[in-house]
Amino acid sequence: MEVNLSNIGTVKSILAKHGFTFSKALGQNFLINPRVCPEMAAQSGAGHGVGVIEVGPGIGVLTCELARLADKVVAIELDKRLLPVLDETLAEFDNVKIVNADVMEIDLHALIADEFAGMEVVVCANLPYYITSPVIMRLLEEKLPINSITVMVQKEAAQRICAPVGTRQSGAVTCAVNYYAEAQMLFKVSAGSFMPPPKVDSAVIKLNIRKEPPVNAADEEKMFAVIKAAFAQRRKTVLNSLSNSLHIDKAAVHSALAASGIEDNARAEQLSLEQFAQIADNLHKTQSKK
Ligand code: SAM
Repeated sequence: MEVNLSNIGTVKSILAKHGFTFSKALGQNFLINPRVCPEMAAQSGAGHGVGVIEVGPGIGVLTCELARLADKVVAIELDKRLLPVLDETLAEFDNVKIVNADVMEIDLHALIADEFAGMEVVVCANLPYYITSPVIMRLLEEKLPINSITVMVQKEAAQRICAPVGTRQSGAVTCAVNYYAEAQMLFKVSAGSFMPPPKVDSAVIKLNIRKEPPVNAADEEKMFAVIKAAFAQRRKTVLNSLSNSLHIDKAAVHSALAASGIEDNARAEQLSLEQFAQIADNLHKTQSKK
């Protein structure tokens, strides 16, 4: 029999039956607004021929919407206490597999190869907010064979990630995400849509994975180190923050900036990805000449 997982009464009685109590440390705020999960699933790209990876199914409210649309859903849940709950709430679906693991540790390349042969793969999740950026960066940096990542995150994180590079709202995460994907704000979700309600509002974003990076970086790692260092002291000039954070003398940073056509008093938030890539290359050249 189908259970309505957006109904507070139903959710409370299922959780009480299993003696479940919410863990703040695991970011357990479950969605109870009936409009949100169908909309997230519809926008995630889940459909015929598509496999979905979900992170943190909770009691399965988003999982069942994904399972209605996709060929297969593999949901990675860290909290063992939710396994018997999910057995009950997802009983009607034969295309869902729950994997009891930590999303930061599981081998995602192997999971995709084993579970989704011949399918396109997308990620869709209401993320535990304590690991929002690490999860997103792991999914991107591992260069997984996935098309997109549709996730609920804290509203401020969503705004930062989706800000255009080179604007005041941008940050290191904006640049890093932008290198791998095109970020799109889908819709905002109020704190009252969750049980228990978190202290912050949320938003759903979609990251469409790029086939090719938008800039040519001779060494990606060095470019990311420059981005991180430039934003580490974002109120300072790039000259000062790069020199301080990378422990490189100002003359060398000045030469690299000049060779990239960038003024010493520019700020990190004014720079494009292309310029960060150039600075990294030029810093490397200046350093290796020494
Ligand atoms: N998808 C459900 C919903 O929308 O109602 C639950 C979302 S809740 C915000 C986050 C979920 O992630 C919880 O079920 C939590 O137990 C799980 N979780 C927390 N840390 C995790 C980790 N490192 N790996 C996998 N799941 C995790």
